[in-house]
Amino acid sequence: MIKNQTLKTVGFVLKEARPYWRYLAVVLVSMLIYIAADFVHPFIYRSIINTVSQPSVKPDEVFSRLIWLIVFLAIALTVHRLFRDAAGFCLLRAEVKTMARVANKIFKHVTNLSYDFHTSRFAGSTARKINRGVARIEDLMDVIFYDLTPTVVSMVVSVSVLAGTSLIIGAPLAISLLIFVLVTILLVKKRMTFDYQANSREAKASGIMVDSLINNLTVKTFTGEQKENSIYRHANRRWAKSAIRSWDWDVWTSIFQGSFVVLLEIAMLMISLGLWRKGQFTVGDVVFVESNLGLLMFPLWTLGRFYRNFRRAEVDLFDVLELLNTKSSIQPNHNLPDLNMASGEISFRDVSFVYRNGRRNAINNLSLNIKAGEKVALVGRSGAGKSTFIKLLFRFVESQTGMVEIDHQDIGRVNIASLRQSISLVPQEPLLFHRSVYDNILYGRQEAKKEEVIRAAKLAYAHEFIKNLPQGYNSLVGERGIKLSGGERQRIALARVFLENAPILVLDEATSSLDSASENLIQAALAELIKNRTTIVIAHRLSTVQKMDRIIVLENGQIAESGSHEELMIKEDSLYKFLWESQTKKFFLK
Ligand code: ADP
Repeated sequence: MIKNQTLKTVGFVLKEARPYWRYLAVVLVSMLIYIAADFVHPFIYRSIINTVSQPSVKPDEVFSRLIWLIVFLAIALTVHRLFRDAAGFCLLRAEVKTMARVANKIFKHVTNLSYDFHTSRFAGSTARKINRGVARIEDLMDVIFYDLTPTVVSMVVSVSVLAGTSLIIGAPLAISLLIFVLVTILLVKKRMTFDYQANSREAKASGIMVDSLINNLTVKTFTGEQKENSIYRHANRRWAKSAIRSWDWDVWTSIFQGSFVVLLEIAMLMISLGLWRKGQFTVGDVVFVESNLGLLMFPLWTLGRFYRNFRRAEVDLFDVLELLNTKSSIQPNHNLPDLNMASGEISFRDVSFVYRNGRRNAINNLSLNIKAGEKVALVGRSGAGKSTFIKLLFRFVESQTGMVEIDHQDIGRVNIASLRQSISLVPQEPLLFHRSVYDNILYGRQEAKKEEVIRAAKLAYAHEFIKNLPQGYNSLVGERGIKLSGGERQRIALARVFLENAPILVLDEATSSLDSASENLIQAALAELIKNRTTIVIAHRLSTVQKMDRIIVLENGQIAESGSHEELMIKEDSLYKFLWESQTKKFFLK
C-alpha cells in the first residue's frame, strides 16, 4: 500500500542521487558486510559456551580454541565498526552533493518562473520551503541507506537465522515482529496527525506575533497591548494542547514498544529453555537465541523513529516537487530570433488582457502607438491598468488577444532576453541587492568595463557620494553603517540603467517625495537619461508630467483621453482635469 507520494519523492531523490551512485554502491556493500559481521557474534558465543560447558572439558585443552574464537569476535567487531563508518563516510558525500544539486536545480527553476509566480507568493515562504525540502533529502537518504534498510535487513536475517535453528522459535518471532511493525506504523501515523496540527498551530502563533510586532505603532496608538497579549496567549494555548497530545502519543508508543520487547524476550527465553529441558537445545543454543534477539532489540526501538523521519521528509519534499512541477506561464523561447532594435517604436494593437482570477479585462482592447524617442506619461486612477500596460510591454504577462510590437516585431515572436535587454525599468523604489555598489551598477550590463561603470555613476550624479563611502565602489549596499539615503539608492539604480543603455525607458515615478537636494540631482539625471530614448512614465504626481510630449489617461484598461497637458486641461469633462484638480486642491478642507 505504498502511496503515490512516497514513490514520487523516493524516486525523485534516487534520480537526483544517481550521479553519485558509486558512493551509494559502497554504502550498500558496506551495509551488507557490517550486518553480516554483527551476526557472526551469536555463532561465536554459541561456540564459546558450548566449548566451556562440555561436561568433561579440560580448560587447558580448549584454551587455544577459545583464543581463536575471541580473535574472530574482535575481527567481527572491527569489521562492523570499519564498514559502518565507511558507509557513513560515503553516504554523507552522496547526500551533500545531492542536496547541493537539488538546491541549484530548484533555484534555477524558481528564478526562471514567470513574474506572476513571484508576485503571487512571499519570497520568504518559498525560500523556507526550498531550504526545508533540501534539508530533508539528508533525512530521507539517511533513512533509506543508513537506518531503515539495515534495520529491516537485520530483522529479516535475525528471523531467518533463528527459524533455521528452530521453527518453534522462528515462527512465533516472525508473527510477533509483523504485529510489532504494523502497530508501530499505526501509532506513528496517529502521532503525526498531532504533529502536523501542532506545527500549524505553532506557525499561526508565530504569525500572530510577527504581525503584532510589525504593527506595534498601531497597537500603541490604540492601546491594544492587552488585546494582542490575549490573542497571542490563546494561540499558544492551542499549540501547547496539540504539542502535549503529540508527546502523549509518543509515550503510548514507547509503552507499547517497551512492553512488547520485554514480553518477546521472556517468551523467547521460555521457549528456548523449554527446548533445552527436552534436550533439543544446548546451553550454547540458548545463548545463541538470546544474542540474536539482542541484535534485534535496538532496531525494534528505532523503527518508529525512522518511519516518522521518513514520512516527515516525504511531506516536505513533496512541496519541493510541486514547486519543480510549476510551469512558467511565459515561455522564454530561447530559440526565437533576437529583437532587432532599430528606433524604439512601440505599438499596442487591439490588446486585451485579463488576469487569471480577474473579474474584468485589466487592459481592454487597447491600441496605442508610441513613436521612437517620444516621451509619454501614463496617468489614471489606481486600478486603471497602468502597471498591467508595462507588464505587457516587458512580456511579464501575455495578452489574450491583440499584439504588442516593438519596431514592427511582435514581442511574442522574439527571444525574451533580447526583448528585456531593450527596455530599462526604473522602479518606484530602488531595488538593490545586498552586494557592493559596483556589482549593483554592473547588473545593468554584466560585461561592462570599470570605466563604463564609473561613467554611468557620473551620469547618474552618484560618483561623488560613492567615492566618499568608506570602501568606495566596494561598499556593500544596505549593510548596517553605510546607510544610503533614499536618493542615493535611487541614483545607484539610475546608474545601472545608464549602463544598460536600452533604447526604451520605463519610469515608474516614485510616489513619496525625496528631499529637495536629492530630488534635484535625480531630476537632472533623469533629464539626461530620457534623451534620445522612447520614454514611458507612470506618473503618480501629475505635477511632473507637464513636460511630456503626450499624456495618456487610462480608465478601465482603455485610453480615455490623450494629449498634452494644455490640451487636456481645456477639454470639457476631462478626466485628466478632474485628477489634476483632485491632486492640487485639498478637498477635505472644502
Ligand atoms: P494601476 O497600475 O493603474 O493601478 P493595474 O494595472 O495594477 O492598475 O490593475 C488593473 C486591474 O487589474 C485592476 O482592476 C486590478 O485590480 C487588476 N489586477 C492587477 N493585478 C492583478 C493580479 N495579479 N491578479 C488579478 N487582478 C489584478
